[in-house]
Amino acid sequence: MTERVGTEPSIFTRILRGEIPSEIVLQTDDVFVIRDIAPQAPIHLLVIPKADEYADVVELAAGDPKLLASMVEVARVAASQAGAADFRLIFNTGVGAGQTVFHVHAHVLATRFGGLAEATMAGGLPDGEEA
Ligand code: 5GP
Repeated sequence: MTERVGTEPSIFTRILRGEIPSEIVLQTDDVFVIRDIAPQAPIHLLVIPKADEYADVVELAAGDPKLLASMVEVARVAASQAGAADFRLIFNTGVGAGQTVFHVHAHVLATRFGGLAEATMAGGLPDGEEA
């Protein structure tokens, strides 16, 4: 599953180091959260382990399930902090599924006043909401 080549730091490691600008909106000892640069929903956050040893969620679940559980809890807190109680949590896994950064990360997708399902079922996003 690993597509990473060589030992170049991932884009997320470079953000964590401050080499690429991106506001860290929440962090713990092990995990940090940024806003996705190309949001696909009104709330689109990335929850990322500070260590880059796992390329995707399959590797992470096998190697450090506690860290995976921490990511889920941080996702919950970050969504709540952004104004969403309900959210979609997505791990693109492998090139064929759209994964482009091989430093495991979770996408947190939501609207500000509810979950994405509500927006979809209502026929679209609330007025004024932009992706
Ligand atoms: P993937 O496609 O691997 O599941 O997700 C990678 C995500 O990282 C994409 O949604 C992409 O928009 C986001 N991304 C890539 N480069 C940057 C960046 O420099 N800053 C931020 N904030 N997000 C980025």
